[in-house]
Amino acid sequence: VRSRLTSGRQHGGDNPISQVPVRTCVGCRRRAAATDLLRVVAGPLQQSGTASGPVRQLEPDPRRRKAGRGAWVHPDPGCVALAERRRAFGRALRCQVRLDPAALVRYVATVTAET
Ligand SMILES: [Zn+2]
Repeated sequence: VRSRLTSGRQHGGDNPISQVPVRTCVGCRRRAAATDLLRVVAGPLQQSGTASGPVRQLEPDPRRRKAGRGAWVHPDPGCVALAERRRAFGRALRCQVRLDPAALVRYVATVTAET
């Protein structure tokens, strides 16, 4: 049962690299295979109740299945910090409100600790 899923990937093409979709990391701005990057989406609008106004959570989307616009970043704290400093997430996601990176930062820290 297990082998049926993976057998389709052995294509034998002469240029397998061109098959991989390439995305640009919003942190370091380097192009990388989509499989090496983490997809990030903006969560639902939340009223924070403070003077800073409404906010959306940045949500990691490792399965790349969430609807809507996605941003791509290396699962690396450095790239996340860089993207945040540049407000690259807001630009990439066309999001006008403040984006809270806490959940994303936590996720990336976990992933980085595992490897
Ligand atoms: Zn990067």
